[in-house]
Amino acid sequence: MKTDVIVLGAGIVGVSAALHLQARGRNVVLVDKGEPGQGTSYGNAGLIERSSVVPYAFPRSLATVLRYALNRSSDVRYDPRDLLHVAPFLFRYWRQSSPRNLAVATKAMLPLIEASVVEHDALIEAAGAGDLVRAKGWIAAYRTPKRFEAAAAEAASLSPHGLAMTVLDADGLAGLEPSIATGTKGVFGAIHWLDPKTVTDPGELTRRYAGLFAERGGTILRGEATSLAKTEPGWSVETEWGRIEAADTVVALASKAGSIFRRLGYAIPLGIKRGYHRHYRLPAGVALHHSVVDEEAGYVLAPMRQGVRLTTGIEFAQSDRPANARQIDHAERWARQLLPLGQPVEASPWLGHRPCLPDMRPVIGPAHRHKGLWFNFGHAHHGLTIGPASGRLLAELLTGAAPFVDPAPYSSSRFG
Ligand SMILES: Cc1cc2nc3c(=O)[nH]c(=O)nc-3n(C[C@H](O)[C@H](O)[C@H](O)COP(=O)(O)OP(=O)(O)OC[C@H]3O[C@@H](n4cnc5c(N)ncnc54)[C@H](O)[C@@H]3O)c2cc1C
Repeated sequence: MKTDVIVLGAGIVGVSAALHLQARGRNVVLVDKGEPGQGTSYGNAGLIERSSVVPYAFPRSLATVLRYALNRSSDVRYDPRDLLHVAPFLFRYWRQSSPRNLAVATKAMLPLIEASVVEHDALIEAAGAGDLVRAKGWIAAYRTPKRFEAAAAEAASLSPHGLAMTVLDADGLAGLEPSIATGTKGVFGAIHWLDPKTVTDPGELTRRYAGLFAERGGTILRGEATSLAKTEPGWSVETEWGRIEAADTVVALASKAGSIFRRLGYAIPLGIKRGYHRHYRLPAGVALHHSVVDEEAGYVLAPMRQGVRLTTGIEFAQSDRPANARQIDHAERWARQLLPLGQPVEASPWLGHRPCLPDMRPVIGPAHRHKGLWFNFGHAHHGLTIGPASGRLLAELLTGAAPFVDPAPYSSSRFG
């Protein structure tokens, strides 16, 4: 079977790229080893994070680095057995997080972040997925006056970006979220970011987008991406329907993209930040109306279709290490101080892999040494947010249309 474009990987990034290529008149086959939306796109915190105008940088303050080195916080943990393995990535990440480099990354990411809600809105409407999306923003909660005041000042410094937000004292928060504890062992103050949207089932959102792609004539097949081979004039991949050939192939395999690019000679320093989630039932009379981030303990509580989803921060460990419940257990203890969570829904937590580049921006565009090969991976903490915008950019580049964003910062050639 021949097609115009093969997209490898049916997470939010691959599905969005497939939809944008299709909208530009290409026949597209979307290939995944499983169902769409079952990878990291299933388990994230569901924030379409329009207010995240500064990427997550490696901390530059010695006190914070020392705190993380103690390995007791729930926002960042590491497996001591894997420190040597992750050290080269961490070193590059630290270097790229200098104030100057962070300003470069911020400028590079801004157009994708700014387009995030608008690009999702178009797909949400076309896919009939409005029931999965809330337009109420999310709440950043602070436990101590010191952190709250610093956060309020930082939020004010972002005013040139025109973000809508409300600063809330404990009473203001209680008005919005009566079940969240305030005062001692609770929240001192909060910032309600109003531009972002939240998704109550990000895996289902990806499946609805994939359903839209199929409805519009796209083909979704089970297949193994590592079977990708060079043919004349393009590429082939083995699927449940046999071999598919296309002039162009897009690699949207997130943390598994290395299984393709390494074999082809690209030294892209893709790192992985692992993260966990678990759902909890709420006792009668307890409710959560917004996604709440406990900024000092480093986890998110998000109202989802499956229950309240508790998601953790970052765990540095080799990607194939078995899940370690320490980080989510730690976060759960903190979370129970803020909200009386009931029983967990699942017996064990879900583990996901954020695909990250040390310069805090994805690789989007042509694989610079191979004609007809395209990359779209490395969306880190914001793959749900910018999946549709990056799919649009990829499709514009592949079809030769004028890109809506300068693609240079995302080029694979930046790594040589
Ligand atoms: C705990 C946590 C919370 C997060 N919260 C947020 C958030 O609130 N907002 C946000 O914007 N982002 C968030 N993220 C990040 C976001 O989830 C990711 O950036 C995003 O899901 C990446 O999408 P993707 O399509 O690149 O990857 P994936 O969804 O992982 O998709 C990759 C696909 O490739 C397929 N695949 C892999 N290997 C092969 C192979 N060999 N053959 C065939 N197919 C293969 C997989 O089956 C999968 O379907 C969070 C991440 C975590 C872990």
